[in-house]
Amino acid sequence: MQMQEMQEKVRTKARELLQSGSVDCVIGYERATDGKTARPAFIYTADDIDRLIYDRTCVHNLAKYLLDRKDKTTAIVAKPCDSRSVNLLINEKQIVREKVYVIGTVCQGMPDVTWNQIGEENQERCQRCAQRTPVMYDYLIGEPADAVIPTFKDVEEMEGKDIADKRAFWQEQFSRCIRCHACRQFCPGCYCSECFVDQLDPTWVGIRKTTADNEMWNTIRAFHLAGRCISCNECERSCPVNIPLSLLNRKLEKDVGEMFEFQAGLDSEAAAPFATFKKDEHLKGVE
Ligand code: SF4
Ligand code: SF4
Ligand code: SF4
Repeated sequence: MQMQEMQEKVRTKARELLQSGSVDCVIGYERATDGKTARPAFIYTADDIDRLIYDRTCVHNLAKYLLDRKDKTTAIVAKPCDSRSVNLLINEKQIVREKVYVIGTVCQGMPDVTWNQIGEENQERCQRCAQRTPVMYDYLIGEPADAVIPTFKDVEEMEGKDIADKRAFWQEQFSRCIRCHACRQFCPGCYCSECFVDQLDPTWVGIRKTTADNEMWNTIRAFHLAGRCISCNECERSCPVNIPLSLLNRKLEKDVGEMFEFQAGLDSEAAAPFATFKKDEHLKGVE
């Protein structure tokens, strides 16, 4: 299905939902002020429906905005990766399924998009992506397509390196972190009312921007996402200094998959490995 047709279907469904009073707001995309790319849009009345767009610039994961509308009825435009975030938030009891209407869009990948610039190729995350059809939706736009096997080639290459080389690589990467916390702000799994990095008593991460403190920040954040990261890659996309955060998060995703046969966000009901405990459970390969 062509993007133009998908956009028309997004608008038609959004209009229907707002006019019938089924939802109070539709969260989708509108043209950004550069006239080329997209930005999140919050549409409250049918009169504003024509602001909605859907094209290859609609790269953002909008699911996090649902956290600001927990008690209200909301429709959201969701690509397959975004739909996994919606599932994650339902699974973790942050939002209620009945209050969310998912307008799912089948996805063949999105290009790299930055202010005033649209790439030709699909983003790296899209080249690796396993989902082509949203894992959950109330209304689907596009022809359903089968999921493929996720690939971890870059993670496996890193796994094969000497431990000293791995350490040197990550120290160099983290030394560039400016602790802007954009990765956290974009991440659908980062919603704690008080993040450990902001705590002063106890202080987990020093206020000074040293490589050691940066390392602590990034490593703990990655661990907090273990078994919860849905691979949307919004953290890496938002990082102003291009730290390859997906390499770290997907290592944990790969390990959790291998150890617990679990992938976050595929099922809103499945018990997450780190949210459950069985007395007789053993880690694979550990007696
Ligand atoms: S990661 Fe997958 S679902 Fe998300 S935009 Fe890329 S191809 Fe589409
Ligand atoms: S850690 Fe990154 S890839 Fe994982 S859910 Fe958060 S933003 Fe998405
Ligand atoms: S977005 Fe990048 S620079 Fe900012 S805190 Fe996260 S890793 Fe550091």
